[in-house]
Amino acid sequence: MENNELWQSVLAQMQLHISKANFATWFQNTQVVAKENERVVISVPNIFCKEWLSNKYYKLILKTMYDMDNSIKELEFSINPQSTKNNNVQKVDAEKINIEQLKFDEFKVNKDTNLNPRYTFDNFVVGSFNELAHAAGLAVSENPGHIYNPLYIYGGVGLGKTHLIQSIGNKIAEGPHKKKVKYIPSEKLISNIVAAIRSNSMEALKAQLSAIDVLIIDDVQFIAGKVKTQIEFFHVFNSLYEKNKQIILSSDKPPNAIPELEERLRSRFEGGMITDVDSPDYETRLVILKQKLQEKNIQLPEDVLEYMALNVKKNIRELEGALNNLLIYYKTNGNIPNLETAKKLLKSFIFSPFDVANHKKIIEIVAKFYNLEEKNLLNPTRRKEIVKPRQIAMFLLRKELKYSFPAIARKFGGKDHTTVIYAYKKILQEVEENNKLTNEINLIKQRIYSG
Ligand code: ADP
Ligand code: MG
Repeated sequence: MENNELWQSVLAQMQLHISKANFATWFQNTQVVAKENERVVISVPNIFCKEWLSNKYYKLILKTMYDMDNSIKELEFSINPQSTKNNNVQKVDAEKINIEQLKFDEFKVNKDTNLNPRYTFDNFVVGSFNELAHAAGLAVSENPGHIYNPLYIYGGVGLGKTHLIQSIGNKIAEGPHKKKVKYIPSEKLISNIVAAIRSNSMEALKAQLSAIDVLIIDDVQFIAGKVKTQIEFFHVFNSLYEKNKQIILSSDKPPNAIPELEERLRSRFEGGMITDVDSPDYETRLVILKQKLQEKNIQLPEDVLEYMALNVKKNIRELEGALNNLLIYYKTNGNIPNLETAKKLLKSFIFSPFDVANHKKIIEIVAKFYNLEEKNLLNPTRRKEIVKPRQIAMFLLRKELKYSFPAIARKFGGKDHTTVIYAYKKILQEVEENNKLTNEINLIKQRIYSG
């Protein structure tokens, strides 16, 4: 039997066993390319097909072939991206979803700049929750080093800080001025500095960093308490700043809320433009979902999108995760999830405030926010740096969870609930007068409700 003939019979058989869309997805552009004794080699267009076919359909394909030709005992899948020869498999929409894009994005990072090209202004949705940060970012990308320096963007997880600061970097790097852009997550900066100190090559590292035109440091809050990193980074910062080189920073909190940050570095961070990103509202969540679908060239029913926008509120990363869940279902089952299916698939993304916030979590998050050990927060002490966070934790248990004052007192190991009442009233009053505190409490709340 000819290879082609053999494969056509297999395809005909397979169509009886699996759904049309599934068939189109996994058997498009496949063919038998060789038959060597007991083994048949099937070419497939990509790694996903190879994995799917060998994991899910190996036995079925082999059995079908064996029934036609008893000498066939083994299959091999080989990847041949050029195999565009159409074997009359009907194309369906599901095929358009670019799974490679879903999964392998993270690896397409530019070696020189460290930037991921998928982060651009074009696919960054702007709403009232991020418009100031966006406008500042755009201005910086058009005139780096001269407008807002440094540009400091802060906000909770998954709200687009990395996306925005990388978009700025990509726009400048692609611009006509051949600027040297470098994106460095702060963990990486810390480990580079530690390694340079160890190997006595700090000067070389500093020279390297000082030669950059646009330095982007992501999640700069991690340098809290890292004394050596702060000293060295301070020098790099100054040398760039003096040469009108652009510095862009992101953080989960404003500079004045980063604990254990050297005063001189804090004042440098505060010397330019500070702007935040907030959570998107329902309308914007809907726009974001539609934009992501457009990127992936696929459609979902309006009621499914509305359900997602209404219920997946944590942040944009979660929204993307929920969407990908539905797309993977679509890809593997070949049919578009309706509202009922979507509800089932999205269970893990949907929660009520009481599911996510409990006293343990609040205490843990407050402690982390102020770089304290949880036990320090729980035991009575008069140490100044602990008293305030402790009062904030008590305040939040009352405000967010509606715990009674005596119940809160018990959680904090004390018998006297008047201390709790005092803490609650004090914070309530301070919030009215003190913007910095309001800001900190909002950031803590963002974390409590974001996972
Ligand atoms: P953060 O750095 O604040 O934790 P990210 O920038 O990593 O958040 O964003 C999380 C995900 O949400 C990313 O995949 C990003 O592309 C997407 N995202 C965030 N903000 C937007 C936006 N405004 N428009 C479109 N996608 C966004
Ligand atoms: Mg980030």
